[in-house]
Amino acid sequence: MGTNNYIDTRGKIAEPIPFTQAVVEGLAEGGGLFVPEQVPTLNLEDILALAKLPYYERAARIYKAFGIDLPEEEIDELMQAAYGSNFDDEAICPITTLADGTHILELWHGPTSAFKDMALQCLPLFFSASAAHLREAGKLDHEFMILVATSGDTGKAALEGFANKQGVSIGVLYPDGGVSDIQRKQMATQAGNNVYVWAVRGNFDDCQTGAKTVFNDESFAAKLMDEHKIALSSANSINWGRLLPQVVYYISAYSELVARGQVEAGAPIDVCVPTGNFGNILAAWYAKQMGTPIERLICASNENRVLTDFINTGTYDISDRDFVLTPSPSMDILVSSNLERQLFELTGRNAEAIRTWMNDLSTTRSFRVDAETFAKLRADFVSDSVNSAECLETIRSCYEDQNYLMDPHTAVAYEVAQRLRGENPVLVASTAHWAKFGDNVYRALKGIAPGEALPEDVAALTGCQLNERIASETKAAPVPAGLANLDTTPLRFTDVIDSSTAAIEQAVQAFLQ
Ligand SMILES: *Cc1c(COP(=O)(O)O)cnc(C)c1O
Repeated sequence: MGTNNYIDTRGKIAEPIPFTQAVVEGLAEGGGLFVPEQVPTLNLEDILALAKLPYYERAARIYKAFGIDLPEEEIDELMQAAYGSNFDDEAICPITTLADGTHILELWHGPTSAFKDMALQCLPLFFSASAAHLREAGKLDHEFMILVATSGDTGKAALEGFANKQGVSIGVLYPDGGVSDIQRKQMATQAGNNVYVWAVRGNFDDCQTGAKTVFNDESFAAKLMDEHKIALSSANSINWGRLLPQVVYYISAYSELVARGQVEAGAPIDVCVPTGNFGNILAAWYAKQMGTPIERLICASNENRVLTDFINTGTYDISDRDFVLTPSPSMDILVSSNLERQLFELTGRNAEAIRTWMNDLSTTRSFRVDAETFAKLRADFVSDSVNSAECLETIRSCYEDQNYLMDPHTAVAYEVAQRLRGENPVLVASTAHWAKFGDNVYRALKGIAPGEALPEDVAALTGCQLNERIASETKAAPVPAGLANLDTTPLRFTDVIDSSTAAIEQAVQAFLQ
């Protein structure tokens, strides 16, 4: 197709904009999310042909099908840089089939061992190229600084993705004492001449609120533009440039399963996704929409089961719901921001309905979709939730019965897949290497309850030492290099700052000097 422009879910932008602009803007003016005017379709032959190509060529094919306004050779080059030796497996996201027939799509072979790498090894390249393209066209005359508040996984993946990219720098804020030993060291050891990391006194909410007030401070924005020619940007999970790389791996996985003879060409599969912000499962929905033979999308929740209740009742309600800390922290979310895109699509792109529901959500903390939309939701999605004890029990039983060690997020999905599976082969999205969550994996293997203290000698170990112990006591996949050397890598960033707007702004300014 030619250039495919982007509209927004709340119908607020004056005119559709091209991909390059949607990527650097991230969020639409008026609060909506960008979606492409056209969702391309692929025929079965096109999908199956992907299996013969290296992963980066598969990704380039899908991007081109979306009518991105960058030269085709440039898309090829960017994809080759995004999905190469920065991943520790040639397949990029290999599929492991367990003895019970479940197919595990391993999305954690990237540099930070979390599935966020699948998008964040790609988006920064396209962000940088998009900005350069807009600058050349005279539509942009400044650079960007990405500011990210993180509760753990996203910060490191974003740092690794944006490190040393042209025309953009990145600063990450994380709650001091609120991330694991491994996560802290992963961030504090980050290399690159355009990166900075701050620990913030307070919890994740303080971090996020601090970052938000900095984003909304117009006089600070003016000052950054004036003194440094820089605009702040967030590149968070609602950026279309983070969603599109995720569509790629579902289409790619289907072609792979057929090429391996595990699924008959054209036969349907079900996909089960451990869900938080609804980005990953939405990408699977787009893959289905494009023609991939996916029948049911199985949404797996932890104890924060707002999405499970929504899919089962049609009411999204957080008015009387406590936020629960679980062994799968990346799914500890109450407001799932990418759901807005899904509802926009299921209503036949009805921006008015979205405005009403999002307004209900912010005023009454709940909304209810109409019967027709609910029926459409039920036609594609099923859902269940797994509590924390069940999650750890699943890690243990899967290790014992299937000889496969999984992280707590993957375990939530695996358990829900076992409960809801029907006739179709099931593909489970595995979103983190077990060694990112060694403490809870250890609890699972030893039968220690979630939240219960580890024995003193174990609690005294660093994250790396604990992982070594787990690896030596099990036949689990080895600890990836990026996680194994953290105790001996020098820490570059040890600043601790207040969460006030002034303190964050001062830190940003000092970094940009
Ligand atoms: C981000 C994340 C998820 C949730 O993905 P969404 O796209 O937000 O639904 C699940 N597992 C892990 C390990 C993650 O980092």
